[in-house]
Amino acid sequence: MILSDHRWTPVNETTFETTGGASGPRSVAPTPYRRGVTLADITRPAVLAAIAEFDRLGRDEFLRLAGFGRSKLYYLEYQGRLYDSKAIVGYAHGQSTGTPLVSEDFSGGDKTVVPRLTALGFDVRYMRNPDWTRDEIILACALVEANGWRQLDAADQRVKELSELLQSPAIHPVDQRGPEFRNAAGVGRKTADIATAHPQYLGKKTNGNRLDREVLDDFIARPAEMHAVAAAIRTALAADEPPTAGPDPDVPDPTADEGGVLLRLHLRRERDPKIRRAKIADAKRHGLAIACEICGFDFAKTYGVRGTDYIECHHRTPLHVTGPTKTRLADLALICSNCHRMIHRTKPWLTVEELQSVMQRS
Ligand SMILES: [Zn+2]
Ligand SMILES: [Zn+2]
Repeated sequence: MILSDHRWTPVNETTFETTGGASGPRSVAPTPYRRGVTLADITRPAVLAAIAEFDRLGRDEFLRLAGFGRSKLYYLEYQGRLYDSKAIVGYAHGQSTGTPLVSEDFSGGDKTVVPRLTALGFDVRYMRNPDWTRDEIILACALVEANGWRQLDAADQRVKELSELLQSPAIHPVDQRGPEFRNAAGVGRKTADIATAHPQYLGKKTNGNRLDREVLDDFIARPAEMHAVAAAIRTALAADEPPTAGPDPDVPDPTADEGGVLLRLHLRRERDPKIRRAKIADAKRHGLAIACEICGFDFAKTYGVRGTDYIECHHRTPLHVTGPTKTRLADLALICSNCHRMIHRTKPWLTVEELQSVMQRS
């Protein structure tokens, strides 16, 4: 069966989805499910026919003609491609029984569509796009600020460019993304969340979250500094490698800190063994003990030979202030692991001198 416009007029162009439920931008009460709908009638060949039709028409046209919105959580994965699971099932029902289903006819998700497709031997993937990180919100907020605190349209070149940047694997691993991941429409919506959260915006607010407002407040208070952070994040993203899997035991939770990508780059630079060796050699040349500049802890005194010449290197100036620069020995402080953690524990990072005075007071 081929979809054509007059056989398949969608009930509502802005179809909301998967739950068949009452949420979403609707002015009428939800239609009760058609009686007698059962997904048990759907066959594997019917699903394959739906996949073929989806491929032939392209996603948007398939969804429009079949009368479905985009999936937000569950995707059928077939030969490396992703398909909106509920729409595929609705179309496949038509193939199997002669009665196609539209979005309102049944609910999607893990109670209905997922078990049926799985029973037919298909893979279904749960894909929820990851929340925006602080880094990402800073970049979006920089656009909104530069645009006079007005939201930007999905078609705007700056939005398209940011959408491409955010798809860099340095922020979110590729295998955790849905097909909509940080597309231009999503980036545009984020700029609306930020713009409408501005205290001087008088209209109706969209759905921002706490982190949006936090970044917004930072921008309002310190625009120049925040633009410098945004620039540093961009530079770091361009140079960054994908994050290694799993949490790094040496690193505080980067999402909770100064900005994931900058923190990572900062700490990676601090761990560079060449830099550390040079700094230790320099300290010895000046006759200094290899001990913590903050608390005086000397690894060799406590751990003997095992601790000899062990010390961590800390960069006094965070990357978001300097931007990526060449490291000078004078920028480095030799400190113990405890003091180092305390410096980076929460934002803003403390300076060496600030941590010293915190210690003396406590
Ligand atoms: Zn120390
Ligand atoms: Zn450090």
